[in-house]
Amino acid sequence: MDLLEYQGKQLFARHGLRVSDGKAVTTVQDAVAAANEVGYPVVVKAQVLIGGRGKAGGVKLAADEAEAREHATNILGMDIHGHTVRTLWIEHASDIATEYYASVLLDRSAKQPLVMFSVEGGVDIEEVAERTPEKLIRHHVDALKGLSREEAIQIATDGKADEDVVAGVADALMALYEVWLEEDASLAEINPLIVTPGTAGETGGREVKALDSKVSLDDNALYRHPENQELADKENEDPIERRAKEQGVQYVKLDGDIGILGNGAGLVMSTLDVVAQAGGEPANFLDAGGGSDAAKIKQAVELILANDSVKAVLFNIFGGITRCDEVARGLIAAFDEIKPSVPFVVRLDGTNDVAGRELLQEAALGNVHAARTMNEAAEMVVALAKEQS
Ligand code: GDP
Ligand code: MN
Repeated sequence: MDLLEYQGKQLFARHGLRVSDGKAVTTVQDAVAAANEVGYPVVVKAQVLIGGRGKAGGVKLAADEAEAREHATNILGMDIHGHTVRTLWIEHASDIATEYYASVLLDRSAKQPLVMFSVEGGVDIEEVAERTPEKLIRHHVDALKGLSREEAIQIATDGKADEDVVAGVADALMALYEVWLEEDASLAEINPLIVTPGTAGETGGREVKALDSKVSLDDNALYRHPENQELADKENEDPIERRAKEQGVQYVKLDGDIGILGNGAGLVMSTLDVVAQAGGEPANFLDAGGGSDAAKIKQAVELILANDSVKAVLFNIFGGITRCDEVARGLIAAFDEIKPSVPFVVRLDGTNDVAGRELLQEAALGNVHAARTMNEAAEMVVALAKEQS
């Protein structure tokens, strides 16, 4: 689960990282009120689950109320790379002396946490990694020992952080590592991690602060963080995906027009491949799980049909412990109630498949076609979808 910038920064703050206070709002009126409250200049920031908001015009500084109103009006409803802006984050603008980069993630190939740091922040970090890899410090951490202060200082020093903020950067890296570890994040990134100019006339006093956040939480660990579960971006979630989640069904929306349903994630994935091979484009991925009871099948079929772009459905069943004749009975009961509006191809193979296909045939359900093999089923469903369009 990805967090919006402001949610990530709220997590940061809980772990001692310095961030600006601000407010999340959804209307121009509330944006202006928030700007007046945090004090000018403010920064008006689009909250969408995609980077590059600044370049797209979704991050704007406002010196006064009129500018805050103008920016809020322009940014709310804006489309940023396919994401509609519904929420704004308004915070007091920071003065920036320089922009750094910091992140913690799991390096799967090294099987270790990886801390990255660069003084070339604020820009696309992939570009830094490509053009000037020596400017991106990569440090693997012993997961059992965690990130020590000595290591954090070494990373900041190796990365050539300004001398007066080495300690501040080290603190930030340790706090970020703590966020990553304790919140069960798969990624915790700050770009930019800024250094403020400090008070005029004084040397030192410069602060290190997170101006942006990118945090992905591990969904499988969310049960350990009920407070984080609340952060799911319900507004921006696909409504069918949300329904599926509530029903405990694995559902992923895709771009095509053929609904894919199967019992088991592996089977569903290979079904996607076979359908693509037959020249079709899957509209979704739905794993109905094991079992065969009619209520469950009905739920799955309803989910599939909730997507308007679905023109035909392939229901791929491989009977193992689940018996095909039971599945067929479940299907018949479910279809009896739903009366599908688009053609279904049902492939039944495995335990008791002959009996299952016979049952389906006897039931003579309208719009339901039985297939014996996966390839045959894929070709049938692709042809049926073409007929429909
Ligand atoms: P992104 O474009 O989605 O990565 O959004 P960011 O939150 O990183 O903002 C983009 C850029 O806007 C930053 O790199 C900063 O240069 C600038 N910016 C954001 N907040 C402030 C602020 O408080 N003060 C100033 N001066 N610039 C800011
Ligand atoms: Mn950024």
